[in-house]
Amino acid sequence: MALDAETRSQLIETVRRFVRERCVPFERQVADDDRVPDAIVAEMRSLGLFGLSIPVEYGGLGLGMEEEVLVALELGGTSPAFRSVIGTNVGIGSQGVVMFGTDAQKAEWLPKLASGAIVASFALTEPGAGSDAASLKTSAIHQGDHYLVNGTKRFITNANRAGMFTLMARSDATKKGASGVSAFIVPADLEGVSVGPPEKKMGQQGAHICDVHFDDVRVPDHLRLGREGEGFKLAMQVLDRGRLHISGVCVGVAERLIRDCVAYAREREQFGQKIGEFQLIQAMLADSKTEAYAARCMVMDAAKKRDEGGNVTMEAACAKYFASEMVGRVADRAVQIFGGAGYVADYGIERFYRDVRTFRIYEGTSQIQQLVIARNLLRGEG
Ligand SMILES: Cc1cc2nc3c(=O)[nH]c(=O)nc-3n(C[C@H](O)[C@H](O)[C@H](O)COP(=O)(O)OP(=O)(O)OC[C@H]3O[C@@H](n4cnc5c(N)ncnc54)[C@H](O)[C@@H]3O)c2cc1C
Repeated sequence: MALDAETRSQLIETVRRFVRERCVPFERQVADDDRVPDAIVAEMRSLGLFGLSIPVEYGGLGLGMEEEVLVALELGGTSPAFRSVIGTNVGIGSQGVVMFGTDAQKAEWLPKLASGAIVASFALTEPGAGSDAASLKTSAIHQGDHYLVNGTKRFITNANRAGMFTLMARSDATKKGASGVSAFIVPADLEGVSVGPPEKKMGQQGAHICDVHFDDVRVPDHLRLGREGEGFKLAMQVLDRGRLHISGVCVGVAERLIRDCVAYAREREQFGQKIGEFQLIQAMLADSKTEAYAARCMVMDAAKKRDEGGNVTMEAACAKYFASEMVGRVADRAVQIFGGAGYVADYGIERFYRDVRTFRIYEGTSQIQQLVIARNLLRGEG
């Protein structure tokens, strides 16, 4: 544990209060405006949320995985768009620098990411390379003291706010798969970097994804992360961690929806009694609680193993697969328990139903998690 027990519980309590008092009341506004208010982003900065996972010596809170998951569980208590504000700095955008950065790279970039002075994005997916990320085509050709980068990245979270990208690009055109890929820090203000307009999405309004174009961008050698050819390995290690964080958020959202369902079932009356007295409603509540609890146990166990230094690729995939599918079922039951009120916008339940859908898609689809789990089992690593 990076934090002592008292500091940890204070942090969790602070995040819980922030979520309930400062985020929940603005959920509808954020969805309608497609924007998280600047004042809330500023509060996230002052609470240190951008730096949750960044080491203390670089200005972050230096949380271990279990602690980060505990915070993610709390952040799941509100619309996922709020978490997305800090999500890439805490996870996929920054962790390549934390895990593979040189001292100089860390000293230059991590303090800015920890404070939230700049936002980091993770640029792996391309128009032709999603699940098969190792087939990416963005090229990084070494010339003298720099790499010349060309290509397009797709669906990049927070790209329109990013000050830097953790970019995966092919530095060795003779190698078609993972071994030809290197990772780079690319400052967003380098000449030739441009960001497309935010995509219209099914849910999570307030969180944005955009195309990012690299046209003859000169990335200096000193901004390569890790060794040449290590970029895919970096991306996968970053995603292992990201999958545990997302699993925690999924559990947090499920627990929020269960609380909302219980409150509604206690208050709504039909046939002269509270609907919570109907055993068919109770069954849905019980199924949701059971599954959310199972996912909570799974992600906490995997997070502890990671903190102990274990390889949790398979466990992270299990947790992401189960938790993201679980929260989809919980959101579906929530719509059912709320009846017509679950389907109309006023109650916010249909919004969560749409918001959680992407958890089964990004940071590896459910099918990719299944493949990762099975591959590890068949290798004898289960
Ligand atoms: C909201 C959002 C945010 C995102 N943020 C980022 C980001 O910040 N950075 C980033 O790099 N990317 C990001 N992505 C991209 C995301 O990671 C990809 O969308 C995802 O990996 C799937 O790739 P794809 O969309 O190309 O689907 P495809 O890979 O084309 O998959 C289509 C379908 O085929 C299935 N499939 C593919 N291969 C197999 C297989 N071998 N066996 C069985 N089924 C298979 C998939 O599971 C899926 O059902 C984001 C996406 C979304 C929606």
